[in-house]
Amino acid sequence: MRVSDDRYTRDRLRFDLAMRLIRHEARTCTIRLWTGLSDDRIRKLYRSYVEERARTDLPRHRGKSPRQTAFFFRSPDLHFEAAQLASLYLLLGLLGASPAGVESRYRIGAIESGVLLCRAYETYVDLHEPARISFEHAWFLLWALARHTEIALARCERCEGLRLRDVLAGRDAPCAVCGAPSAPGLRRGC
Ligand SMILES: [Zn+2]
Repeated sequence: MRVSDDRYTRDRLRFDLAMRLIRHEARTCTIRLWTGLSDDRIRKLYRSYVEERARTDLPRHRGKSPRQTAFFFRSPDLHFEAAQLASLYLLLGLLGASPAGVESRYRIGAIESGVLLCRAYETYVDLHEPARISFEHAWFLLWALARHTEIALARCERCEGLRLRDVLAGRDAPCAVCGAPSAPGLRRGC
């Protein structure tokens, strides 16, 4: 019985995570990635969500997820909010400090990691109304920071705040906290 109880609990957690992701307007492929649920099951959950809430204005995102790190450097506001999200990822343990900067501490498909990602995003949304960064971009930011081939984190020497580094362009964004311009002496990593 214990095995079936555990399975029930896992299914329940998976279902709860899927509903949370639907509320964040995550794409079907993202929900599948984090919950392991089939597309058909996700569609049914989405329909039941819309019917229950009588909401028809929730956009359904299909197709490819965002894959452009340049998005986070488009404006000082976006950079500031992205740096805050990165701080939340570090605080919640989705990313960890490493000699190379930061490294992944999340596991794709693990419900615990999916829940932490939702928690980070919900905290970010609470801080910024309206939020400029969608859930899909927030998940992309986490993924890209863990890979650090396109985007990385650096710490501002003046205020110790986090700033993003555009690895492809070979430059740091001006500090979103104190406005310090990017400097050659900037310390890498966290
Ligand atoms: Zn600064």
